[in-house]
Amino acid sequence: MGNSSQAAAAAISLAQRLSGYHLIGGRFTPALSGASFPVLNPATGKEIGRAAEGAAADVDAAVEAAFKAQAAWARTSARERGKALHECARRLLEHSEEIAQLLALETGKAIRSESRGEATLVAESFSFYGGLTSELKGETVPFDPKMLTLTQREPIGVVAAIIPWNAPLMLMAFKIAPALAAGNTVVVKSAEEAPLAALRVMEILNEVLPAGVANILSGDGPACGAPLVDHPRIGKVTFTGSVETGKHIARAAAEKLIPVTLELGGKSPMIVMGDADLDKAVAGAVAGMRFTRQGQSCTAASRMFVHESIVDAFVEKVKEKVNAMKMGDPLDEATDIGSIISQAQFERVHFYIKLGEQVPGAKSHRLSAVPDGPEFKDGLFVQPVIFTGVSNDHRLAREEIFGPVTCVIAFKDYEDAIRQANDSDFALAATIWTSNITLAMDATQRLQAGFVQVNQNIVAQPGLSYGGIKQSGLGKEASLEAMLEHFTNKKTIIINLA
Ligand code: NAD
Repeated sequence: MGNSSQAAAAAISLAQRLSGYHLIGGRFTPALSGASFPVLNPATGKEIGRAAEGAAADVDAAVEAAFKAQAAWARTSARERGKALHECARRLLEHSEEIAQLLALETGKAIRSESRGEATLVAESFSFYGGLTSELKGETVPFDPKMLTLTQREPIGVVAAIIPWNAPLMLMAFKIAPALAAGNTVVVKSAEEAPLAALRVMEILNEVLPAGVANILSGDGPACGAPLVDHPRIGKVTFTGSVETGKHIARAAAEKLIPVTLELGGKSPMIVMGDADLDKAVAGAVAGMRFTRQGQSCTAASRMFVHESIVDAFVEKVKEKVNAMKMGDPLDEATDIGSIISQAQFERVHFYIKLGEQVPGAKSHRLSAVPDGPEFKDGLFVQPVIFTGVSNDHRLAREEIFGPVTCVIAFKDYEDAIRQANDSDFALAATIWTSNITLAMDATQRLQAGFVQVNQNIVAQPGLSYGGIKQSGLGKEASLEAMLEHFTNKKTIIINLA
C-alpha cells in the first residue's frame, strides 16, 4: 500500500468510528430520530461514513447540556480555563495528522497544501486564546470619588456556532476557542459536507473540558441550524457561510435580540501596478486565489486588476504556475490541488464558467489537468480558469463563485483601479502590489476591506483581526477583540463608599 492509500485507510476507519453521532454532554449520541446521512469523499464520490441527522430534539439536548455546564465553567478561574485550552492545543497538535487526513478525505482539500496547515491552525487557535484569558479584565472608572466604579467582563452564556465546509476546522476554532476562553459553553452545528473532522476535534476537546462545555451537532441548515439559532437559551450566534443564510440568521437573532457575528462572502480585489515585482505578484495571485483550495475561500483574489502595461505577461506567468500544479488524490503528498466539495458546488462553478464563456470578447484560460485514474471518474475535479476580457460589472466579477475561477481586468491608472476595486457589494480582503511606497500607503487608506495587504498575501491567522464590511459580514474573528467584544458582556458596578 502506498502512503496515500495507508492514509486513506486510516482516515476511513476513523470516519467509520465517528459515524452516526453528535457529541452532547461529553457523550457520542446518535440522532434521537435515529436518522443519519452519508458523508462522501468528493475526490471519488464514495461514501466514507455517516453523520447523525440532527433536528430540533437533538438541538434541545445539546443546548440543555451546554446550559447545565455553563455556570460551573464560568466560575473556573481565567487561569484554569487558559490551562485547559493549552492542554486542548497540545492534544490537538498531537493528533493533527489524523485530523488532517480525515479533513482531506471528506473535503477533498489536499493534505500537503491545505489540510495539514488547517489542522495545525486549530491547535494554534486554542493556544492563542489559552494565553489570552488574563486579558478578560475590566477597568476602574473615575466617576465619583465617593463611589468605586468598575467594569467587569462576563461570559454571555451558551453560544451557537454554525460553520461551513470550506475551512470547517479553522472557522470552528476561531469561533469556539475565544467563546470557551471567555467562560461560555458552545453548541456547534457542523457543515453537512464536512461533519466528521469537526467531530474528531470536539472529541479531543472533550477529553480535557468538563462534559457539556463543548457540544457538536450535525445536520442540515433548516432542520438543525435554524432551531439552534432560535433556541431560547442561546445567547449569541456566530456564523460563517453565505450572505443569504447570514441574513436569515441575523433576522432570527434580531427576533430574540441576541448578538451575531457574521463572516460572509467576498470578491476580493488584487491590484497589480505596472511597477510591481512581477514574479512576487504572480506568486501572490496564485496563493491569493487559493487555487490549492480550488478557490473555495472567502478571501480568494477573484478580481485581479492588473496594469495594462504588464497584464499579458502577468496572465502568462500565472498560467505557467497554475499549469505546473498537480491536481489529484487529496491524500497524496504530491498533490497541490484537490477536488471541489460537492456536486452542488461543482454545478455552481460550471454555471459561472459557462456564463463567462458567453461574454463577447471574453477569453477563458483553463489550467492544470484533472486526474484521469478510474478511481477519480466520479471525482469533483475542476480545472482552474482565468478569464480575461470580462468587466467588473459582469456577474462573474460581482458574485461569489467559490470555485477556482478568477477574472483578470486590465486598468489604465491607479485611480481607476481603486475605484473598480471598491465597486463591489463585498469588502473582505484586498491586496496591492507595487514598488511605490507612497502609493501603497495611500491604497491602504482607500481600499474598502477588513484586511488590506501590500506586496504579500498571508491568510487568516490567530492574532490578526479578521472580518469584512459591507455584504462581507459583521464583527471580527481570530483576535483579542473577538474574544472581548463578541463573547462577553460588560457589566458596570458602582459601590457607594460613603
Ligand atoms: P450556507 O450558508 O448555506 O451554509 C453554511 C452553514 O449554515 C452550514 O452549516 C449550513 O447547514 C448552515 N445553514 C444553512 N441554512 C441555515 C439556516 N436557515 N439556519 C441556520 N443555519 C443554516 O452555505 P453553503 O450552502 O454551504 O454554500 C453556499 C455558498 O455560500 C458558497 O457557494 C459560497 O459562496 C458561500 N460560502 C461562503 C463561505 C465563507 O467562508 N464566507 C463558506 C461557505 C460558503
